[in-house]
Amino acid sequence: MSDIRLRFAPSPTGYLHVGGARTALFNWLLAHKLGGTFILRIEDTDVARSTEESVNAILEGMQWLGLEWDEGPFFQSDLFPVYREYVQKLLEEGKAYRCYCTAEELEKKRELAMAQGGKPKYDGTCRDLSEEIPGKPYVIRFRAPAVGVTAFDDLVKGQISFNNEELDDLIIQRSDGTPIYNFTVVIDDATMKVSTVIRGDDHLSNTPRQILLYEALGFPVPRFAHVPMILGSDKARLSKRHGATSVMAYRDMGYLPEAMINYLVRLGWSHGDDEIFSREELVDKFTLEGIGKSAGVFNPDKLLWLNAHYIKNGDPARLAQLLLPFLRERGVEPAANAPDLDGVIITLQERARTMLELADGALFYYQSEVVYDEQAAAKQLTAAQLPNLVSFAKQLATGGDMTPAGIEILFKEFCVTQGIKMGQIGPSVRVALCGVTTSPAIYDVIAVLGKDETIRRLERAIDFITARA
Ligand code: GLU
Repeated sequence: MSDIRLRFAPSPTGYLHVGGARTALFNWLLAHKLGGTFILRIEDTDVARSTEESVNAILEGMQWLGLEWDEGPFFQSDLFPVYREYVQKLLEEGKAYRCYCTAEELEKKRELAMAQGGKPKYDGTCRDLSEEIPGKPYVIRFRAPAVGVTAFDDLVKGQISFNNEELDDLIIQRSDGTPIYNFTVVIDDATMKVSTVIRGDDHLSNTPRQILLYEALGFPVPRFAHVPMILGSDKARLSKRHGATSVMAYRDMGYLPEAMINYLVRLGWSHGDDEIFSREELVDKFTLEGIGKSAGVFNPDKLLWLNAHYIKNGDPARLAQLLLPFLRERGVEPAANAPDLDGVIITLQERARTMLELADGALFYYQSEVVYDEQAAAKQLTAAQLPNLVSFAKQLATGGDMTPAGIEILFKEFCVTQGIKMGQIGPSVRVALCGVTTSPAIYDVIAVLGKDETIRRLERAIDFITARA
């Protein structure tokens, strides 16, 4: 293992968002590329907003995407004693102080500062108190330098600098004794020896505050890579009103994890004009230099296109595993004697864009009584077609080669002996077997159903026509 250590540090206040998943992916990829370690840390210090349900949703999303972590999940809520120790250290060294200002006082000062056209910054009332005030609630603030510049070389954005003057005396511990994100993140990244922090650029303005804390605590400062946010089609930050933003919602809509991974990585990273990347290729090609400076726009059509690509080229056995829950939702339990699911998938994967389409498309194979589409039946299952269907069923019963190629020959010979065109038998057989006129190639369908089941379905269609006549 190299000393490259990366982490994903979600706050468990909701599901795994596509933006969070992309951050996790970038960290995972770099760790794998460089032989480093990928850490998962759950930032649940905000006890009121953190839920176990959300933790589970995040873990489930990561697992579904195949973003396994090497260490963790660590929970910040388990580390409160550690944070308290470091707060104590800063207090003792005079680098932090107790602030007794009440929320109302602070609000008044803020309003006053705004009215005077100044920045709403803590005015330092309690900065130099010489005595503790017993019994009065307090927060703990970091004594930030009032002058100077805090600069860092961001691996995505380049040189960034902030005037310390603009930075507040940050609260690091609330009056109830719980620590604040900007503090815990520093303690954890330092003690977990994180070498590079890759995260969304919504955290960019936190970084100088965190750097000042690293310095005050005597910790080495990690490198930072701030990745631009994901935007919706209207260039506003991606949110629910643009459509689903939860990774697991995409699973439920029939997306494959490999399509999601491929989509997310390209949303902010590029390698020439390439669009399709296997996971191995990503591990090989991923670099922070490939991350763009401008925000990616979420494009559902492209995600759908990628999904279709991965379904089309997917291993049928693997797709079958992923398809089972969708089939079960539709009341289908592919039994041992039903058509083999791998075979079914091979006939459908060319055209299905999502697992929902694949599941819907597979339904007719598993119906003991095919549901005829009314229009299709009205057109293709009529008395005029009856003689052809009867003869075809007979011919099929004598047929030997039940491969798609053999079935194609059988159809052709049938047309010649009957003096008809393919269009006079194919669509009727199709409706008899599948219930609809749009279906996979009919030779493939018959090969998958097998001779007996095909004949059974033809006979049922014949009965249907007879009963109607
Ligand atoms: N817990 C933070 C968040 O969910 C992540 C902080 C970080 O990556 O430094 O936004």
